[in-house]
Amino acid sequence: MTLKQALRRARDVLVENNVEDAPLEGELLLRHTLKIDRVQLYLELDEELTPQQEQTFRRLLERRLNGEPAAYITGRREFYGLDFNVSPAVLIPRPESELLVETALSIAKSRPLFTIADIGTGSGAIAISLALALAQSKIYATDVSAAALKVARLNCRKHGVSDRVRLLEGNLLEPLPEPVDLIVANLPYVRKSELNPQFEPPLALDGGADGTESIEQLCRQAGGKLKSGGSMLLEIGQGQREAVTAILHNIFPGGEVEVIPDLAGIDRVVVLSLSAGPVQLDRQPLHC
Ligand code: GLN
Repeated sequence: MTLKQALRRARDVLVENNVEDAPLEGELLLRHTLKIDRVQLYLELDEELTPQQEQTFRRLLERRLNGEPAAYITGRREFYGLDFNVSPAVLIPRPESELLVETALSIAKSRPLFTIADIGTGSGAIAISLALALAQSKIYATDVSAAALKVARLNCRKHGVSDRVRLLEGNLLEPLPEPVDLIVANLPYVRKSELNPQFEPPLALDGGADGTESIEQLCRQAGGKLKSGGSMLLEIGQGQREAVTAILHNIFPGGEVEVIPDLAGIDRVVVLSLSAGPVQLDRQPLHC
């Protein structure tokens, strides 16, 4: 069987089994089998697979048909144009979470973000994307899961940002050593009753009875950990706009709250902006 035939066969069987993005997924699995990049794959379409490669490829396809995500089979996932290592210890980065990165970068255009905290960092995809785009920022990345932080550490090394991304183990903002200019968080927000994770860590998805438990907990901790004039970006699930904006208005009555939809038109990122407050003078006013 040639590579071209293998691709076609994989696509057909994935389509038959209702796997989304069948051509791409087939390609990822074939590249993983052969340990080659995209360019090489398309240069070698007429080459023959060895019987052993055919067997490996067939096994990977079976795993995929069994529901295992391609990212866990290959151990990699692209996010914000970068390649990240993933394992079942971390949530697979989703394209809609790129909106958190884009929103953070647009804030960075209007004011300097010296310190940023990515809460519930998982694979580190958001923290590392920000570190690469904002060379002057120091980034804290927290997670309750030590296993997730191991994956994040690997990714920091892979992208050469270990010196600027500080990984901290602990619950939400608790391990943060200082207030920051920006908090970014893609916390678990799936309702417990709707939770059905077969492969991904429940810890990364389970948002409690109404899905917003972790988000609310973070908001309650944020007061002391956001600098004056700071911002917080929260990824939310479909239908959570009202609940989360109400929590923020309640905890930060003076803050400004805005909601940004993702490419599918679903409200996805809630932005809290604190006012800078009165300018602090370090000298006494003059009395004449
Ligand atoms: N977007 C993910 C999903 O729908 C949930 C991610 C999360 O809980 N942060 O599966």
